[in-house]
Amino acid sequence: MSAPYNELLDATIRHLEDLKARGVRHIAVAPETLRALAQPAKFSNSNFQAPIVKAPAPSAKTEPVISMPPKKTAEPAPQPPAGAEPSTFNLQPSTLNKAAAFAALRARALACVKCPHLAASRKTVVFGVGNIDAQLMFVGEAPGADEDEQGEPFVGRAGQLLTKIIQATGLSRADVYIANILKCRPDTPGQSAGNRPPTPEERATCIPYLQEQIDLIKPKAIVALGATAVEGLLGKTLGITKLRGNWQTYRGTPLMPTYHPAYLLRNQAMSEKRKVWEDILKVMEKLEMPISEKQRNYFLKA
Ligand code: URA
Repeated sequence: MSAPYNELLDATIRHLEDLKARGVRHIAVAPETLRALAQPAKFSNSNFQAPIVKAPAPSAKTEPVISMPPKKTAEPAPQPPAGAEPSTFNLQPSTLNKAAAFAALRARALACVKCPHLAASRKTVVFGVGNIDAQLMFVGEAPGADEDEQGEPFVGRAGQLLTKIIQATGLSRADVYIANILKCRPDTPGQSAGNRPPTPEERATCIPYLQEQIDLIKPKAIVALGATAVEGLLGKTLGITKLRGNWQTYRGTPLMPTYHPAYLLRNQAMSEKRKVWEDILKVMEKLEMPISEKQRNYFLKA
């Protein structure tokens, strides 16, 4: 078996062991991934090519793990973003490759020391969480203290609000993928508490990891939460108030800017909640998700 295959396999096993150590007992696995794993590997030493598994014809037994419209198949192979290490690319698109490439990317990010000050101050690298086949991705700013502690994005107060927003669509956190522009908590030297936004240098250093995550996941839509996420992904400084609610495009993927849930915690006005909900309704429409009358009317005054 080829060295790249073994590296990816090792990284996958490390990733699963890490999840287990963090108390995760179940993971969502798409039916085609299970079938790929059950197939005998046929690799040559010189040119690693994992088995290509065709998407199954829809049937009751082969439903996707989430109840959203199936993603279109036959996507072009992902291209490495500028500056990215090519190791996880040049592979045939298959779900086995995708899981392994994702695990390898995660392993690289967890070992990252490109920002020595953040590597020294962090407790964990907060890589991202959710379904790597998700149609919908949420991108925030950077981990806070709770996220740094737990190694998972959006688990603090703002995270709990984001979870409620996701659940209001009918989805769960496990159906979507959640990540941040920065994977380490921005340090605050001399302060025992508090947060600060990432600097442009920190953003530029970290963003290739997020780009690779997006390229592998290939979501149908991205929700950028707050100004830092929008600026980090689009490079626009127009301001979140002007941009929110208006579809943008990130490397070919529709991107909806909306307010960060932390803003909604600071500003409890119903009108602000409704704005975010209207942005989310647009995302649901884009993903052709069913929308009930009740959902349409959330946060509208009686
Ligand atoms: N705010 C963010 O932007 N990301 C997190 O993970 C938590 C809070």
